Amino acid sequence: MSRAILWFRNDQRLADNPALLAALSAHAEVLPVLILDPRQHGPSPLGFDRSGPFRRRFIREGIADLHRQLAAKGSALHVRWGEPAEVLPHLVKLWSADAIHAQRLFAWEEQEQEREVAAVAHLRLHAPNTLFLPGDLPFALEKLPQVFTDFRRQVERSGAVRTASPEPEHIPTPKEWKGRPLAQDELPYSPIDDDPRAAMRMVGGRTAALARLKHYLWDTQALSRYKETRNGLLGADYSSKLSPWLASGAISAREVWHEVKRYETENGANDSTYWLGFELLWRDFFQFTAARYGAALFRPGGITDGTMRGTNDILRFAAWCNGRTGQPFIDANMRELAATGWMSNRGRQNVASYLVHDLGLDWRMGAWWFERLLVDYDPCSNWGNWQYVAGVGNDPRKDRRFDPERQARMYDPEGAFVRLWTDPHSMPLKETL
Ligand SMILES: Cc1cc2nc3c(=O)[nH]c(=O)nc-3n(C[C@H](O)[C@H](O)[C@H](O)COP(=O)(O)OP(=O)(O)OC[C@H]3O[C@@H](n4cnc5c(N)ncnc54)[C@H](O)[C@@H]3O)c2cc1C
Repeated sequence: MSRAILWFRNDQRLADNPALLAALSAHAEVLPVLILDPRQHGPSPLGFDRSGPFRRRFIREGIADLHRQLAAKGSALHVRWGEPAEVLPHLVKLWSADAIHAQRLFAWEEQEQEREVAAVAHLRLHAPNTLFLPGDLPFALEKLPQVFTDFRRQVERSGAVRTASPEPEHIPTPKEWKGRPLAQDELPYSPIDDDPRAAMRMVGGRTAALARLKHYLWDTQALSRYKETRNGLLGADYSSKLSPWLASGAISAREVWHEVKRYETENGANDSTYWLGFELLWRDFFQFTAARYGAALFRPGGITDGTMRGTNDILRFAAWCNGRTGQPFIDANMRELAATGWMSNRGRQNVASYLVHDLGLDWRMGAWWFERLLVDYDPCSNWGNWQYVAGVGNDPRKDRRFDPERQARMYDPEGAFVRLWTDPHSMPLKETL
């Protein structure tokens, strides 16, 4: 009987999952495995662990939810802590599997994992979590436009986003195949007291992802005002807050896109409903940029091989991380991040600009800190956006400095956001350097 291992990566869902569909159509039995690679959670070049408590909690919750989804389909999730190229061949042999099916990922380390696994096992890679699939792009990857607007115009003209497939009814799995949860000492994490000032509590897994999508579109119709509110700083509904679940793949970009289209059919389209798709195209753009430039996404001179002029002054960096630069708008945003694992897009643009252009630091230090803390951490979006702000990425303009005082006047005119996060009597930060 033909068997396949389904290697879950950042595609932690059963609907619109091309790797799962391919495994089901080619094999009689499917063995679901999720692997956490210690290299991606241990020390960064700056000394601190690459994943901190907020991200670890979100990952753990997401895995628990995937366990439940699979159990409801008659299957079970086997979770392992280790390098995929060591874990997978062992399971292939033990279970006499014929192939491993997995989602293709575009960031360099994930591509390295794919190369390592392909060298020792029969690996079949499937469509990524993007709106447009690589083969549907109207240009070859080597010809990817360097400027977002050129990319967007070409893909918008090129055709429709593929439909999202529903969950399978049943996933045939051998009855001897046992689920294995993540052990306590794997991805260790201590429980967090949630800060009452947090914009919202983001719980890992598809159940929470679908609830958030429903809330933002159907329950509140906040989507119809998105373009006016998206630069907000306070509260849950100024933006979709879907990024954490898009990063883990608990929901796919295509699912969000088609739900927005359904919403437009029922409630009418406007600039706001268009704009959410526009932002998802930014996400696609950074995914394909990572695919196109590989390891260059992480080098100091960026994908343009420009000059990185920052220093690595640790005291200035610690002041930035801990929200103690003395610039109130920057400090408020950095404290929100350190207390909750979240920061708005407006905040991210400003604190990144401040680190690079005001503090004169190596942009990669900021990217490492974001990687540790952000609950929605995604290598392509994080490193791509940091390069962009630092002027060594796509559209390499050198004058991307934001004036934080002006930004605060525009986006926090009453000072409510700064007051919320700089109140000296509030809870201590969860994460400091
Ligand atoms: C320095 C810096 C680092 C960032 N790091 C990350 C990261 O690690 N992970 C991440 O998902 N986003 C990152 N972003 C992009 C953006 O800030 C977040 O995607 C957005 O704030 C998430 O909130 P939301 O889901 O409410 O977004 P919405 O405004 O509701 O947008 C909808 C979706 O569009 C996508 N999107 C929006 N803006 C961007 C953008 N600039 N780049 C790529 N995709 C975008 C996201 O998937 C988002 O969920 C970063 C931005 C900056 C400036």
